[in-house]
Amino acid sequence: MSGVDATVPPTGPGCAECEAAGGWWFHLRRCAQCGHVGCCDTSPSQHASAHARASGHPVIRSFEPGETWFFNYQTNEFYEQGPPLAPPEHHPVGQTVPGPADRVPRDWQAHLH
Ligand SMILES: [Zn+2]
Ligand SMILES: [Zn+2]
Repeated sequence: MSGVDATVPPTGPGCAECEAAGGWWFHLRRCAQCGHVGCCDTSPSQHASAHARASGHPVIRSFEPGETWFFNYQTNEFYEQGPPLAPPEHHPVGQTVPGPADRVPRDWQAHLH
């Protein structure tokens, strides 16, 4: 699969930009090329797709526990499975959805896309 570097670990347990800005996210996606962890398009800030547009890295993988799917933004192709990536393969199981717990507002559902 092009756009995938299986040797690069993820940038961290949360969305890189949301962590820097004090934001929160719904679900997390991992760039399969550089390991960037960003928030999904349902999240308030949609950093995963913004990263794909800005970097040209086409492929993401879900960073949610139990999910193994990949998606290619350039071709709109969805894959149930893909190559194993450098661990960890998902965010910590104890991390809340949405997260992180201490930054999610009470009316979080009103902020989803
Ligand atoms: Zn984010
Ligand atoms: Zn990337």
